[in-house]
Formats: sequence, structure tokens, C-alpha cells
Amino acid sequence: MIVAVTGGKGGTGKSTLSANLFFYFIENYKTALIDCDVETPNLPYLTGSEDLSLAKEVFIEIPNIEEGKTYNYKNVCKEGALLKVGDKLIFIEDLCSGCKACGINSNITFRKKSIGKIYEKKFDNGYLIVGKSNLGERKTAKIVTETKKYALSKNCEINIVDTAAGTHCNVVRALINADKVLIVTEPTPFGMSDAKRIIKIVEKLNIPYKIVLNRYGISDLKVGYNFKIPYDRRIVECYCKGESFLKYNDLRGCIEEIANWIIWG
Ligand code: SF4
Repeated sequence: MIVAVTGGKGGTGKSTLSANLFFYFIENYKTALIDCDVETPNLPYLTGSEDLSLAKEVFIEIPNIEEGKTYNYKNVCKEGALLKVGDKLIFIEDLCSGCKACGINSNITFRKKSIGKIYEKKFDNGYLIVGKSNLGERKTAKIVTETKKYALSKNCEINIVDTAAGTHCNVVRALINADKVLIVTEPTPFGMSDAKRIIKIVEKLNIPYKIVLNRYGISDLKVGYNFKIPYDRRIVECYCKGESFLKYNDLRGCIEEIANWIIWG
């Protein structure tokens, strides 16, 4: 079972939900918690896991352009990373996604470039797997794909994929192959407007989803939702300490309801 936790807007509490679902599931199921917010992963802090170990490095292949060499390259690069002007090739490494389209029917060769790393921590009944891009790296989609692939190779019964905020390529890559999606939002105009955008994407991907209204009670805005998590000082305190809030029975009940939908539908 792969369940993705997402939300159009940043700061809605999706990582807090992911972390608490993880602590709930590892009580009974072999579970992987997968941080696919590769530019700003925060699940290590939310699970009190700063002692991660390196699992693998992620590379892309980029053109190996040599000064003075003649290339028969035609301008095909959609990213604007490689441009032929007269006899000269201009290569902007930061824009290159490593798609290798420029190598088709040309004499361009490639070299490996590291774009990020995957880290892990073993728990008694599961794993935290974290993708992290190198500082300043702009093309990070492959790290998302590789992080998921690495986590799924652990063959856990439950896999919780925590996506980045927004509706961009990295989010879609994190959502692909999910069996179910939780969309986390909050009762604010920004939260609602961003949730609508991510709902459209999840519907296009044809994945069953439910909406979790976090910080329930901070406003009287009317928002449609399936599950709710209250605005509660105890949650904030646990968040600050990198602890789960499952020790509080009423809050545990909120997580249990969501977990039941994940397992039983
Ligand atoms: S590998 Fe792809 S993105 Fe990079 S320069 Fe070639 S065509 Fe452009």
C-alpha cells in the first residue's frame, strides 16, 4: 500500500500528519516513511531522527562539452541548457535535467553529476527514507523518483510518501503510483484555494483521495473535509520536540480514523 500525503500549500501540516501516521502504523505494520520534499526535507526533525545514515547518491548524466571540439548537435534542448550558436556550443549546467535528448544523433558524450543523496534510519518495524538535493541544485525530480524506488525496495506493507508543497513536477512524481492520497488543508482562504489545485491533479491521476482539515477550529470558514485534526496546543508542543502526539487519546483517535481509511478503504 502506498499512501501519499500532499497539500497545495506549504505549512498545512502534511509532514506532521505523515510522521504521526508512521508512528501509528509501525506499532502493527512494517512501514516506510518517505520524505520526497527533497529540497527541504523536515521529517528527520519531526521524527527525532537526525542520526541518519547515507544509503545512496543520486546522479544524472549531463553533456561533456569539450572546448575546441566540433559537435553535430541540433538545437533540441527543451530546458534551454544547450544551445548551438554558429560553431559554438553554449552549455548552462544548472538548467540541464540530464534527459540526454541532445545525445540522440549527435557526437555528444556524457558525464555523471551528483544531484543529491538518499538517507535512511532503521526503526524496529520500519524505515525513514529521506531524499535530499545538493545545495542550489535546481533539477531535483530524479531524486524524488529514486527516493521512492529505494524505499519501495524495502518491501514494507505500508509506504507513506510525504510530498513537497505546490503542484509542480516533483509533487506529481511523488504522487504517481500511490494507491491513495491524503490532501491536507487548513480553514484559511489560501489553504482552500491551493487545495483545489492539488485536487484537480489527483483527480487527473485518477487516485482515490480524502481531505484532512488540519487546525480545525481556527476559523469558521466552511470547508468540505473527510477527516479533521483540531488546532491544539499539544500538537504544537509535540511538533517542537520532534515527538508524535499519539500519547493523547483524543488526538490518537484522529490518526486512527485516517489510518482505518488507508487500510480498509
Ligand atoms: S541532457 Fe537534456 S536537458 Fe541536458 S542539455 Fe541535453 S537535452 Fe538539455
